[in-house]
Amino acid sequence: MTHRNRPNSEALYKQALEHIVGGVNSPSRSYKAVGGGAPVFMKRAEGAYFWDVDDNRYIDYLAAYGPIITGHAHPHITEAIVRAASNGTLYGTPTELEITLARMLKEAIPSMDKVRFVNSGTEAVMTTIRVARAYTKRNKIIKFAGCYHGHSDLVLVAAGSGPSTLGIPDSAGIPTSIAHEVITVPFNDLTALEQALERWGSDTAAVMVEPIVGNFGMVMPHEGFLEGLCKLTRDAGALVIYDEVISAFRFHYGSSQTFSAFPDHAAIEPDLTALGKIIGGGLPIGAYGGRREIMEQVAPLGPAYQAGTMAGNPASISAGIACLEVLREPGIYDRMDALAGKLAAGLTDAASQHGIPLTINKIRGSFSAHFCDHLVTNYEEAQDTDGERFGHFFRLMLDQGINLAPSKYEAWFLTTAHTEADIDQTIEAARVAMAALK
Ligand code: PMP
Repeated sequence: MTHRNRPNSEALYKQALEHIVGGVNSPSRSYKAVGGGAPVFMKRAEGAYFWDVDDNRYIDYLAAYGPIITGHAHPHITEAIVRAASNGTLYGTPTELEITLARMLKEAIPSMDKVRFVNSGTEAVMTTIRVARAYTKRNKIIKFAGCYHGHSDLVLVAAGSGPSTLGIPDSAGIPTSIAHEVITVPFNDLTALEQALERWGSDTAAVMVEPIVGNFGMVMPHEGFLEGLCKLTRDAGALVIYDEVISAFRFHYGSSQTFSAFPDHAAIEPDLTALGKIIGGGLPIGAYGGRREIMEQVAPLGPAYQAGTMAGNPASISAGIACLEVLREPGIYDRMDALAGKLAAGLTDAASQHGIPLTINKIRGSFSAHFCDHLVTNYEEAQDTDGERFGHFFRLMLDQGINLAPSKYEAWFLTTAHTEADIDQTIEAARVAMAALK
């Protein structure tokens, strides 16, 4: 337990609490869900590793909640950022770089005829909803419980008391009138979607989904779920929006829409796609795109307004291009898949040796590890897992130099920088942690 002493992190957390609300700039960074206390303050990151302000080294599986798929400070990406910055960080004019990244995204995600860059996944999702509403001239949105789509008003709405009831706000500050524009149904449940569409379909602008879920663990849709979702939605005259902020470029060079797990690509194609995270190579970015006639609703061509001072800035775009260039190298995804497989097997083995129930959902180079003895296919099942045990496990791993997301709902992300030795060290730490948990 070499990393237990973190006096400098403790001291910085005290200062941060005085100046920054909750001491963190995103609530998921706090340790509230894992028993509280000072989060580790990092001062440097390279490859698969972090170094904290007390000079402890950590193997990182957080990957900044997804974007850092090539490992930290990848030289090709760093070089692109430095080059961009030395040419000026923000122009407020178009650049050729934006065309390059737009082309790369369109090639990889063919459902997008036109693209627009924004600054975050939140903005991308928020705008797809506006565009869908402008195009369909309808207001309501159907979404799935436990899918996270950023922090804009409409998508911070939870399920009502039944599958076809109107939503209730998930956050203070969201008027009930807005929440009533949202219907939330369980993921992987086509019957619930059908019922919601029967009741609200003619008012529904779009059905929004993470086609492969990354926000209550990694969860694959059941066979036929996306096909059914697309068909039911289109039959109701509504648009299908895929939030691929996590899933695009995570499992292969492309999105869920061309992932080998779903052979009938045409049957699962969305009308609009929201992107973020990996496509910015670690700098702030978001993007959305879709069918030409829908995207042509957006200003300056159409009546749906969306703008951004920072949008398409040369540093983020250059980092995105460089990141995708790295990901195009042959074998990259197979390697992450193999490492994730080895790690998942090691965790399963360590847990079973001590009779600890652990359910792993692995999708290529990422997985979730839920402390439970049942499958996790929807949010309810993810909620019904042992959060307290996860909290202990998280701390036992952290104290041995393994950095995970401080929430039982978040995934483990492999990067191109992780090595076999990192995996061996992580499995060893997990054995110690599981023995202590027992
Ligand atoms: N959609 C999904 C699927 C996400 O996972 C996230 C962030 N975790 C967002 C949207 C919001 O992205 P951002 O934090 O960049 O606003």
